[in-house]
Amino acid sequence: MSEYLLEVSNLKMHFPVYGGIFRRQTGKVHAVDGVSLKIKAGETVGLVGESGCGKTTVGRAVLRLYNLSGGEVFFDGDNISRMTQGDLRLLRRNMQMIFQDPFESLDARQTIGEIIEEPFIIHKIGTAETRRDEIEKLLSRVGLSGSAITRFPHEFSGGQRQRIGIARAIALKPKLVVCDEPVSALDVSIQSQILNLLLDLQSEMNLTYLFIAHDLSVVKHISDNIAVMYLGKIVEYTDADSIYKNPLHPYTQALISAIPVPDPSVRNKKTVLSGDVPSPLNPPSGCRFHTRCPVAFDRCKADEPELLPAPGIEGEEHLVACHLVNS
Ligand code: SF4
Repeated sequence: MSEYLLEVSNLKMHFPVYGGIFRRQTGKVHAVDGVSLKIKAGETVGLVGESGCGKTTVGRAVLRLYNLSGGEVFFDGDNISRMTQGDLRLLRRNMQMIFQDPFESLDARQTIGEIIEEPFIIHKIGTAETRRDEIEKLLSRVGLSGSAITRFPHEFSGGQRQRIGIARAIALKPKLVVCDEPVSALDVSIQSQILNLLLDLQSEMNLTYLFIAHDLSVVKHISDNIAVMYLGKIVEYTDADSIYKNPLHPYTQALISAIPVPDPSVRNKKTVLSGDVPSPLNPPSGCRFHTRCPVAFDRCKADEPELLPAPGIEGEEHLVACHLVNS
């Protein structure tokens, strides 16, 4: 049995694009192009990158909400890459998702009780009475009162709605939770409360998280390891401490330099990246970051760098895809 709960190998997600009067396929969006990562049970991997880099697509693909274009996903020892939706149904109770927008992810017409009861009904668990007990315990566990059961989502604040989303995600005691930017729609003052709740639940329930964020400062305290994504690929992967203390890829360095420093006497040297992320419909040749990289050189336009162990670093796994680092 593998020591990893989740193993993703060379995952690819390409989406066809149709155009013209005959609606023929005119191209493919290379949303994810060869992503590999592993997460041990009870640990968290943070997946970070600007919007459009493919990180949410990775999260949805590992839950098999899509049919994969390529690569493999192993969950708890099972290869789920080509499983039918019928077979996946049995596994779904162990794999849940917390969504980015707590305003859109809850059905406005259902009461909170009905929303949290849904997974129990889908998986035919318990009776109406035992389910009500479970719902009350879940609400209390996420910091809400039992009276929420009969109320509707619009009666709650953003932070409270995210607590409801978390209660629904943990209702069936899953092993893996994909957290898709769960705090980015919330006020900064609420973000740390939700992050602390996720950390508490993880240690109580031995949850494993794939935590998706566009901001490196958000994943710092919650992640054991961090993968930085750019345009469908992982460009750097290591433990959370190393990524902040010793970022090696120019893109990671730029993301870290953009994190505000709370001490006004400390002046952070910011690396401002020029231009936007190129289109995944037609990614740049060679290193996909070369069009924005401040230290790009000739080889970068022609050769695609592999994600390799960084030279000179021993005793830890620090992978980087950059010719400058690996030459
Ligand atoms: Fe920059 Fe070249 Fe390294 Fe890509 S391979 S990050 S373009 S130096």
